[in-house]
Amino acid sequence: MLVAGNWKMHTDREEAIRLAEAVVAEVGDPGSVQVAVCPPFVNLEVVRQIIEGTPIRLGAQNMHYEEAGAYTGEVSAPMLKSVGCRYVILGHSERRQYFGETDEGVNRKIKRALQYELIPIVCVGETLEERQAGQAAAVVERQVRAALDGVALHSAEALVIAYEPVWAIGTGHTATPEQAQEMHALIRRLLIDRYGEAIGRALHILYGGSVKPGNAADLFAQPDVDGGLIGGASLKAADFAAIVRAAH
Ligand code: PEP
Repeated sequence: MLVAGNWKMHTDREEAIRLAEAVVAEVGDPGSVQVAVCPPFVNLEVVRQIIEGTPIRLGAQNMHYEEAGAYTGEVSAPMLKSVGCRYVILGHSERRQYFGETDEGVNRKIKRALQYELIPIVCVGETLEERQAGQAAAVVERQVRAALDGVALHSAEALVIAYEPVWAIGTGHTATPEQAQEMHALIRRLLIDRYGEAIGRALHILYGGSVKPGNAADLFAQPDVDGGLIGGASLKAADFAAIVRAAH
């Protein structure tokens, strides 16, 4: 199980310090559950100092696919690696929706992240219109195939997929455990086809979309749900810790 908190564009420096300290205290020893927090770029360093020596790992929310260059305002994989990131969220629906991210760009970012031994948390998921039109499975399949095009994986620890139906993100509308499992099973089949039984079965597939302490256990009980990517609830340390406990 893996539970990752996406802080999005929240927390100034002081707030990030307070939240990271509270997460460390509230989560305590998560046992076999892997836990990560993904603060905004400018707070990665200060959060790293607080979580160092604890079981909590650091992630970023995005990166550029080039290693360096004239890309004003961007941040690269080696930069994230140098400040202690283990994970990087790629292709989040907010990046696709507001910043024009494409499947092709996400694929390039994944390849670069793997080169620097960053673990990409690759987000896929359909919009409400796509679900209502009966296209949810086709959209997710296209996103997964495009993201993984030409991506070789030598270990199940190298990459994480997050299924995040766009209609469930920040809306309070969570997918039912059955809806989540149906899509996770589809993603599992694609991963097994692509990488074989051993790696395909062991890769983490997270669910994201209005996960809260009250619904986490039912979602995590599904056979192909291997944890969660948590937005809003990750900004409250007690809620985030309760979600981590639900993954036990
Ligand atoms: C997210 O941003 O990845 C997310 C799942 O957000 P929320 O939990 O707020 O729906």
